Amino acid sequence: MTIRILPPDVAQKIAAGEVVERPASAVKELVENALDAGARQVQVEIRSGGLGLIRVADDGSGIPAAEAETAFLRHATSKLASAADLTSIRTLGFRGEALASIAAISQITLYTHHAEDDLGVTLTLEAGQVVARKPWAGPTGTTILVRNLFFNVPARLKFLRSATGEAGQIGHVIEQFALGHPDVRFRFLSEGRRVLETPGSGDLRDALRQVYGSEIADALVAIDETSESSHARVWGLISTPQVTRANRSGLSFFVNRRCITNLSLVYAVEEAYHPALLPGRHPIGALHLEIPPTDVDCNVHPTKAEVRIVNERAIYSLAHRAVRAALLQVAPLPEIGAPLEPASWIRGSALDAAPAELPGAGHRFDASGARGTETRGHEAAAQNHLSVSDQDTAASNAATTFEPSSAATSPPTGSDAPFRPTALRPVGQVQNTYIVAEGAGGIYFIDQHTAHERILYEEIVAQRSATRAPSQVLLAPVVVPLNARQRAALLEHGAELARLGFDLEEFGPDSFILRAVPPRLVRADLLQALRDAADALAGDVLAPDGTDRLAATLACHAAVRAGDALTLTEIATLLARLEETDVSRYCPHGRPVVVHLSVSQLERDFHRR
Ligand code: ADP
Ligand code: MG
Repeated sequence: MTIRILPPDVAQKIAAGEVVERPASAVKELVENALDAGARQVQVEIRSGGLGLIRVADDGSGIPAAEAETAFLRHATSKLASAADLTSIRTLGFRGEALASIAAISQITLYTHHAEDDLGVTLTLEAGQVVARKPWAGPTGTTILVRNLFFNVPARLKFLRSATGEAGQIGHVIEQFALGHPDVRFRFLSEGRRVLETPGSGDLRDALRQVYGSEIADALVAIDETSESSHARVWGLISTPQVTRANRSGLSFFVNRRCITNLSLVYAVEEAYHPALLPGRHPIGALHLEIPPTDVDCNVHPTKAEVRIVNERAIYSLAHRAVRAALLQVAPLPEIGAPLEPASWIRGSALDAAPAELPGAGHRFDASGARGTETRGHEAAAQNHLSVSDQDTAASNAATTFEPSSAATSPPTGSDAPFRPTALRPVGQVQNTYIVAEGAGGIYFIDQHTAHERILYEEIVAQRSATRAPSQVLLAPVVVPLNARQRAALLEHGAELARLGFDLEEFGPDSFILRAVPPRLVRADLLQALRDAADALAGDVLAPDGTDRLAATLACHAAVRAGDALTLTEIATLLARLEETDVSRYCPHGRPVVVHLSVSQLERDFHRR
């Protein structure tokens, strides 16, 4: 094909595709403009997930009537004058592309009144071309209506999620603005329903309350730390290790009020929780970094979602210090003690340790059943966990194969032949956490939570493709407050959850009511289970390693916990199901399920061979 310069309308659509990936990106750009104009109040209204209509109204400075048309030209901006200004950006926008891009792929009506003009102006644009202009006598500020986004880019429409999915993404964008600008009042309406409204009090906790609910917001702890050498300050609110989520969407970072993503920062913050954070759990909070604008390069990402920071290491460690200091103040973190770890003593020679030091020596299982009465309630609960869905035949006939799980947990027999636990006979339970069993190949230590979780995971995955799972009506329905993203995920995947045995319904503007659940979940913390399920559904269905996120979340909540005392019958039931299930060596969260001690190893250790 001959090389030719693309006609302007094609070039515009290509450029628009970069800036406006989906309705949420258009909303992001429009709200950024409102904030750059100094708005104290921003109202966003959408229809059909933003594809039908996006309306953003602000009480900012307004656009001078004489410049209204110019604002829609590509590379037209009032925020930069020269290339030098790029090195110290203080505004959210700076490229002068957003309005041109959005206008190229939609129908726009602009109403604006600049403070210094007598009268405002209204413009109508179709695919980037101004088709009407009239005077407008409204208050100072700007309102933009975007209709039929992507109407002339059908290819893009195919890649968008359902309207509720897109509305969820927009909700997430506005939540981030609210956390980045606690001093601005945000109102977000979808299909005429109020989804989010913040007071604009200037108090970050007030904004967090609207996004995550009072229960979470009130439990967050304040952080504030400055670094003289890097002229930086980190402040915000973060959760204690007890208040966590199954994914990272609850942790927001702002650099000079711009919401950014930065994995290194996430790691720096999560590292500060060590070792108190459970695997697979993530903190909640909002962290503001204030850095001299000359030390930040905002012009590195097409949607400005990432920035580059001079001295980034110093900033990460400042964030780490700030979080660590705040957490230590509210509660000393548990020390990494010497936890019961069968793997380590199996690895070394048991002879090296005095018998009394062998783990389990002080926690011998009392097979007589004469245990304290305080465990009875647990037993009943565990019985219930284990007996539900015994009739379920999701178990596969495939041979169950346990391979040595890793260098650390493999038996030091020298034999790397796979071994499978068959004919498992319960011996007992250690620390109410590990099941000890004897099988054909020796002794097995089984993590009761991860094993049960793994079994349930396989069952739930099988059920997702089945017609309809059993459901148990709750004695008292549970009201679950959710954020916009979680609500959108539940609305989008309602049918799927119903198939799994959930009966849930929207309840008020920001909650769902749960009336029935899969029987195995009856005793779980339903509030947390539903929130985690919604988080799982809000992400991609499959994790990068192919794990079914929803099934993993539900299995985790339904499984017996570490610390639950189990009866021998319960242990036997669990072992039987473990033998039947096509279990892999790891739980859905990647922890090992079984540690094996072979007979030959025992014989060697006791010098019988
Ligand atoms: P940028 O934000 O990068 O400057 P945009 O295309 O988003 O580029 O906007 C172009 C210009 O239009 C802005 O620089 C600003 O002067 C003006 N503008 C856009 N939206 C608003 C608004 N809500 N209030 C005041 N001025 C606005
Ligand atoms: Mg802009």
